[in-house]
Amino acid sequence: MEEKVDVAVVGGGPAGVMAAITAAKQGLSVTVLDKKPREKIGNKSCGDALDRVAPNLMKDKLGIEYPNGKELPSPLEHLTFASVSLKHSLTAHTPAFIVHRLHYGQRLLKIAEENGAKIVGNAKVRDILIDGDQITGVQFFHENEQKEISAKVVIDASGYIGIVRKLIPEDLEYGIDYSVPPEHTVATYREIVRLDRPHEFQKRIVLLYHESIPIPGYAWIFTDGELQLNIGVTWPKHIPYPDGKSLKEIYHEVLDPLVPPETYEIVHKGGGQIPIRPPFDSLVFNGAILVGEAGCMVDPTTAEGHGPSLISGYKAGIAATHALKRNDVTHAGLWEYNKDIMNYPGSTHAMSYQALQFLKQTGPSGMAFFLKRKIVSEQDLIDLFQTREFVLPFRKKVQKILQAFPKWGMMWNLKKAIEKVELADHIYKSYPNSPEGLSEWIEWRRRDLTSDY
Ligand SMILES: Cc1cc2nc3c(=O)[nH]c(=O)nc-3n(C[C@H](O)[C@H](O)[C@H](O)COP(=O)(O)OP(=O)(O)OC[C@H]3O[C@@H](n4cnc5c(N)ncnc54)[C@H](O)[C@@H]3O)c2cc1C
Repeated sequence: MEEKVDVAVVGGGPAGVMAAITAAKQGLSVTVLDKKPREKIGNKSCGDALDRVAPNLMKDKLGIEYPNGKELPSPLEHLTFASVSLKHSLTAHTPAFIVHRLHYGQRLLKIAEENGAKIVGNAKVRDILIDGDQITGVQFFHENEQKEISAKVVIDASGYIGIVRKLIPEDLEYGIDYSVPPEHTVATYREIVRLDRPHEFQKRIVLLYHESIPIPGYAWIFTDGELQLNIGVTWPKHIPYPDGKSLKEIYHEVLDPLVPPETYEIVHKGGGQIPIRPPFDSLVFNGAILVGEAGCMVDPTTAEGHGPSLISGYKAGIAATHALKRNDVTHAGLWEYNKDIMNYPGSTHAMSYQALQFLKQTGPSGMAFFLKRKIVSEQDLIDLFQTREFVLPFRKKVQKILQAFPKWGMMWNLKKAIEKVELADHIYKSYPNSPEGLSEWIEWRRRDLTSDY
């Protein structure tokens, strides 16, 4: 017999599991379908860094403990931005976590189950069910059989691939383009390596803007405990690798001088694609919601998506509960999710996207200049990552520098970029309260901020 639930969640990664916990805690019947075996759900090739915003929200709203024990290979104390080489760098004290994705993900799945959600592994979703203009469930392959589940709300938490999103018919898309082109994607390659002695990056993560990697790409060196490092590169997908090299070769070229291969053994290699643009202009449909990477909830500059995915899952669970209580699971009934996401993380990611355009312009050598001249200070970085009250004080400082050196074209461009960053915040926080205002808002966003997406 076909199963019927309030909420079917496609994908049990951070976004999906948080949607499941939140909806189940509110008393909804929830089934999570994931193509991975049950015991592997949560596992992912990742840099494993997680800032405190999502864990704080999870603790406050749902009583979920911070990553701990074997879920936490290392606490994180410092973030370093470096340019060209580790010589030009800026380090700020920004407490956060390095998480073991599988162990942490598995605890969250267990919490979902304890609250009544059903988790089905080896369940690959292949199609969506539609009745008239309403999405009513999904079709999936499980135990050598094709099965269906009907749901009042389908939550697409399938990550970069966005399997449900891809299958939504055009007439339910309100004119929005839901594709993620190569210009808005970075490819990644990373290794977890074990050294024979404690490394020099204890409790620290380093983002390195290297001259051979075009921004938004970068290289990273993250602690993964006393003896292990998680090191990798990201590369903008629309730019071909130079001289026919592979991403792995670029990885070695950039990172071998900093972490020589003869000092470590490889524990794991992997990679993946990450969407790097602010969320789609609308994330809800009649009977469906996009969460996490399926909705492009990743910081475009740093490619952090774990925290935003957890938060979007929570927000989707709340919006689905409200819509079901009102008995209105249409696009309009689910709209509060759009508003909530555009407020955070949407506005932050839109600001980051604007900052990224400036970084692309200046390149790694321009960044070296900013770091060398201390135009960005440690306090600026702390503000950016902890209080999010970054722009105003920083703007004042740039104005001061501009007065002293009026001919500095780069500083002028920076001032202009800051204005755009502020505008992005304003536009995303002015997202319409109902679908009626959407086309006007998109027009405004394209005209005054960016028509890149
Ligand atoms: C190499 C790399 C390094 C990264 N480093 C960081 C970092 O340090 N910090 C950070 O914050 N973010 C990082 N990210 C990004 C972060 O990993 C993702 O943004 C985050 O995992 C997205 O969560 P999600 O739940 O949306 O999707 P995912 O974690 O991708 O989960 C999607 C789930 O959906 C399932 N699924 C997919 N298709 C189907 C289907 N058809 N049917 C059923 N199930 C399906 C998958 O099996 C998976 O379990 C990194 C990403 C990569 C690739």
